[in-house]
Amino acid sequence: MTGFVYLVGAGPGDPGLLTLKGKELLERAEAVIYDSLVHTDILDYAPRDAVKECMGKTGYGMQLPQDEITARLIALAKEGKRVVRLKGGDPCVFGRMGEEAFALAEEGIPVEIVPGITAASGASAYAGFPLTHRDFAPCVTLVTGHRRGDGGAGPDIDWHALGKLGGTIAIYMGLRQMDEVTKTLIEAGRSADTPAVVVHRATWPEQKVLEGTLGDIVIRAERAGMTPPALLIVGEVTRARSKLDWFDKSPLKGRQVLVTRAKSQAGELCRLLQERGAMPIELPLIELKPYGHQSGTAAQLKKIFAYDWVVFASVNAVEFTFARLAEMNLDARAFGAARVCAVGPKTAAELSKRGINPDVVPEKYTAEALVEAIKATGDVKGASFLVPRAREAREVVPDELAALGARVEVLAIYENIRPAPHPLALKVLLGGHIDAVTLASPSAATNYAALLKENGLPADYAPCIVIGPATARRAAALGLSVVGEGEEHTVTGLVASLESYFAAASKGDRT
Ligand code: SAH
Repeated sequence: MTGFVYLVGAGPGDPGLLTLKGKELLERAEAVIYDSLVHTDILDYAPRDAVKECMGKTGYGMQLPQDEITARLIALAKEGKRVVRLKGGDPCVFGRMGEEAFALAEEGIPVEIVPGITAASGASAYAGFPLTHRDFAPCVTLVTGHRRGDGGAGPDIDWHALGKLGGTIAIYMGLRQMDEVTKTLIEAGRSADTPAVVVHRATWPEQKVLEGTLGDIVIRAERAGMTPPALLIVGEVTRARSKLDWFDKSPLKGRQVLVTRAKSQAGELCRLLQERGAMPIELPLIELKPYGHQSGTAAQLKKIFAYDWVVFASVNAVEFTFARLAEMNLDARAFGAARVCAVGPKTAAELSKRGINPDVVPEKYTAEALVEAIKATGDVKGASFLVPRAREAREVVPDELAALGARVEVLAIYENIRPAPHPLALKVLLGGHIDAVTLASPSAATNYAALLKENGLPADYAPCIVIGPATARRAAALGLSVVGEGEEHTVTGLVASLESYFAAASKGDRT
């Protein structure tokens, strides 16, 4: 049986710029062959057991001959695999798509092509200027500055003609030839004062934009030590950057932020950080595990319908409770007429997914908010409550409910353990390269403080941003340096607090 090869554009860098179709194909891929310009987070969409191989080029040189890459694609397809050939930018723009697709077609291997956002589009959007403009740039030319390295007889570029054409010129792979190219364009009549930019690693947190003119951009790029991958973009359009450079202005741009959440929960925070140009460094300090396989737990869950109230204070509590119910062959019907309280909208949404619309949803997990919400529906005194939660939880809510005359049973349904730190992420932390640490739970604060201590570092080693007051209290007690706290106690709030911290910090830098 013959497999299938999808030539998919990964976009210029920012993983959010992958197409939906590309993502869906990756999710079903059995093998992924990717270029070195592809953001490795994109590979996480592919199944864990898929073959993943980097076969690509960096900068000027080719690491692998094209024949070898093509041969590998053919071999995998002949094994019957669904292969995704993931290429930086758009596979159809300087992507050797033609060569790869022809070779596959010759072998009778079916091919599909999925476009991507090419580097020039990414650079224009993230550096803040259009590629065309009605008034002064009626066309854009995408051109390679690189002569064919394989000795083949590709057509030469008529740079003189290009200089006369006007409009915007986006030059790929042109860093080394920049001197010659800019001189020829000027000779052809393009003014030396034409604005030009070099965009290094467009759309990545490391994006660097160097502004100049056709006459001086080469010397400026040399002085600034610009390296590939980079584009040289020439044209009046680049002036718009002075007003539109939203990405480079983001206070989080280029900041290395330590994400300490459990691996299974870090995704949303990492995505929010990346969207704002930060570099999330994942160092999970928490791992959540099911707990409570004792007979007592099973007995409590079997009669869950007999409680007046079941209180879920977190998404985790919902997930682990339902997982345990499922193991016992039970589902939402096990709740019978018991009323359900979910703390916060996310916990409520998690319950709704499982067929339970909570009776009350207090916004905050404080005894007052909870009691107020429950009281509005009836008496707390004499009512029975089941509170599934983490083994280590020390919240006061159950005690306070009990003090009001409620019969409260807590049920430890999961536990937090501290995983071994990921060696690479630990190295980044220990090397002093972290701009801020995010802590999304009191346990994360405890485990982070322990990690610092084990490595002989002071508790105030790096600025910490915490998700809410409980984590802030724990962090302060441990001597960590807390510089911000989420106003809404969610990851969105955490990111907003990080932004204010860095915005204030960069103002401080300037004064
Ligand atoms: N198929 C790709 C281009 C591959 S050629 C695309 O459509 O974007 C490789 C060249 O693309 C690099 O030498 C550089 O000039 C440019 N390039 C790719 N990604 C880039 C990025 N993120 N920022 C700037 N230039 C980039």
